[in-house]
Parts: sequence; C-alpha cells; structure tokens
Amino acid sequence: MSRIKFQTPTGMHDILPEEEKYYYFIAEKAKKIADFYGFGKIETPILEEQSLFEKSVGKETDIVGKEMYTLKTKGNDLLTLRPEGTAPVARSYIENGMYNLPQPVKLWYFAPFFRYERPQAGRYRQFWQVGFENIGEEGSIIDAQLIQILSNFLEELKIKNTIIEINSLGDKECRPTYKKKLSSYFKKRENSLCTDCKKRRKTNILRVLDCKQDKCQPIKTNAPQILDFLCVKCKNHFREVLEYLDEIELPYSLNSSLVRGLDYYTRTVFEIFATDKESNKLALGGGGRYDDLINMLGGREIPACGVSLGVERLIELMKKQNEIEEKNDAPVFLAQTGNLSKRKSLKIIEEFRKKRIKVAESLGRDSLRAQLNRADKLNIRYVLILGQKEALDNKIILRDMETGKQEELELDSLIKEIKKRLKK
Ligand SMILES: [Zn+2]
Ligand SMILES: [Zn+2]
Repeated sequence: MSRIKFQTPTGMHDILPEEEKYYYFIAEKAKKIADFYGFGKIETPILEEQSLFEKSVGKETDIVGKEMYTLKTKGNDLLTLRPEGTAPVARSYIENGMYNLPQPVKLWYFAPFFRYERPQAGRYRQFWQVGFENIGEEGSIIDAQLIQILSNFLEELKIKNTIIEINSLGDKECRPTYKKKLSSYFKKRENSLCTDCKKRRKTNILRVLDCKQDKCQPIKTNAPQILDFLCVKCKNHFREVLEYLDEIELPYSLNSSLVRGLDYYTRTVFEIFATDKESNKLALGGGGRYDDLINMLGGREIPACGVSLGVERLIELMKKQNEIEEKNDAPVFLAQTGNLSKRKSLKIIEEFRKKRIKVAESLGRDSLRAQLNRADKLNIRYVLILGQKEALDNKIILRDMETGKQEELELDSLIKEIKKRLKK
C-alpha cells in the first residue's frame, strides 16, 4: 500500500524559518515607516462578501473575473478570500464610521491575499502584501507623499535601482470622453487586436492599453493619450503631484499606458519597478487615488489614495541584492554531559531566562564535541560546560572562546559572573 503524501495546494507554499526572517524584517521596516508617517495598523477578515470586490475592483477585471477564490458557506453566503487590500479597508472605513474621525485616516496592513492565478515562478496563489492607505484628503500632496513613503520604504529594505512610473486616469468628468475616443480608435483597428483585447474593448477599454501581447503594441503606441483629455482640475492635480516629486527630487517617468487594471482608480496611478543589470523590469507594487471607491461602496464622497507592494517580490530582490545578516543574539551556550548535568540544565536555562539573558543549547546531543561544534557555528563567545563532576560539586566551567581562557565558577553565582562579563 502506498502512503498518502500531503502537499501544499498548488501555487501555495510554506514559509519556513529561513524565509520567515525576511517577512519579519519587511514587516518591522513597514511598521517603522508607518509609525513615522502616522499610519495605524488595520486587520480585516480574510473573507469578505464576494460582491464587495465585484463592486470595487470591477467585474470585468482579471482579479474578479478569473482569479477569486469564492466559497459558499453553510448559510449560503458567497464569501471570497480577499484578493487585494484596498476594498476591505474602504469597507471598514464605512462600516466603522471613520469619517467621524479627524481626517485623513491613515491605515496600513501587512497581510496574506489570495488569487487563483496560473502558477509561475515567484507568483503565489497565497501571497503577502504590505499597503498604506490615506483616506479623506484629495490634495495632490497626499499622492506625492505616498510615493515618497513607497520610495523610502524600498530604500530601508536596501532595494536599489527602482523607477516610478506615473500616469493620471482622470475622473468621472473627463474620463468618459477619453474612453469614447479610445473606443472608436480601437474599433477601427479591431482586426489587429489580440483576442483578449477584442474582448477588453467592449468590457474594460482602458485595459487594452495594459496589453503585453506583441500584436497590440504598434496600435497601442499611436492610441490617444489620456493626458490630452484631462479636465482642468485633473490636469492641475497631476501637474502638482509631479511638481512635488520634483521638489523632493524623486525621479519618475510618465507612462501614458499605465492603467492599473482595477476599476476604482481615479486621477494619479503609479507603479514602482526594480531594474536589473539587463534592464529587465520587475514590478514591485503600485497604487493610486481612488476618490470614488468609498462612494461606490455605499459610503459618502470621500477621496483617498493608497499604495501596496508584493512582499514575495521584495524578498526575491532582497535575496539577490543584499543578504539579511544572520544574527545570533545569544551570548552564552550551555553544553552538558552526563545525566545529572542534563537534569540541572533545564533549571540553569530557566535562571538565564528570568534574567533575560539568551542562552543557546543543544540539549538533545550527548557528545560534548558535537555541542561545542554547534556553539562554534553560532559564533558564541561564552560557553558553559557542565560535566558530571562539576554537576556533583555544584560548579560549572566557563570557556571564553575569544581568549581561550577557561575557569571554574560556582553554580550559585553563575548568572552574576556572566552578567559581569557581558557588561564589559
Ligand atoms: Zn492585446
Ligand atoms: Zn477630470
């Protein structure tokens, strides 16, 4: 009989301790940035009503149309594993009456999300994102500051060679005219479009600009550009965002085909890429303004702007560009041989814990040499050796690995003696 082998579901992966340290590192840096800029952390449920994403992200997007994990509960509710973070945050803002709080309300998250995507290298069906949302203000300075935060965050992670691409999608005043123009442009060239774009032309015309197929590139290049169709307000807003970025000397490049694919974006949209030696671009994340979203979800007219980054992408780059230093922060290692020593070890470790001194050990091993090897690998300066004889005499040997000196200490004054040495 063959044994059943269980595996993670396709496209999902375990995060083991070696990998987990990167997640911690990123979350810690995010928290520092969030604290500085006044963002409070929010955690929304992993499940939301399916219609929340249909109404916000949009039915005709890939995320909602193809990639959602939706399940029917015993009570016949359709719940979806959240595919993104902004709609749940907007839902929470409305549900908790956050418009009563001083505005803007600044929130951040670090959480897992789910999309049923084609499995490919570096893409997971359960993935983590870190995001910052600024809700309640429409000033262009908010957009610029979020981009600045994004850039500072990547700098904190020591991710180099990044470039910000930026565009404006206009608002409900000026976008319809542009979409009409675009629609008639692509209609005339329908036969030269790829199959997906033929569909997109009818359902989500802006997404045609997003197409990566070779076939669509020449038609895209000559398409009408949104910046030529912005109303005065949108034009000024966008110009100001760019001026702020110039002011803080943050380099960006305009990309008129950047549309972000989600229905709720208005005005400023941006993405950030890292480039490698071969100038390949790796998308790390992006965001934009979503002035209509809260209203679309049944709330008031509240402007907002946000950004999110894919954590696995960041980790991929961090692994290539810099290694997080492996720190062993235990200053003491306890080695033991013999039954009595072994028995005393647990108590000694507890005494260290009470004094908040970290002590490494290898209790499962009996061989002294194996234990000393372990201490050596961890690069620990003070090694305690508790042999059978010492255990009987209530003593312990302290070996200073740096000087090679060895001495015998009274077990009763061990912590005091170690503390003395650690102070030096
Ligand atoms: Zn296409
Ligand atoms: Zn406009």
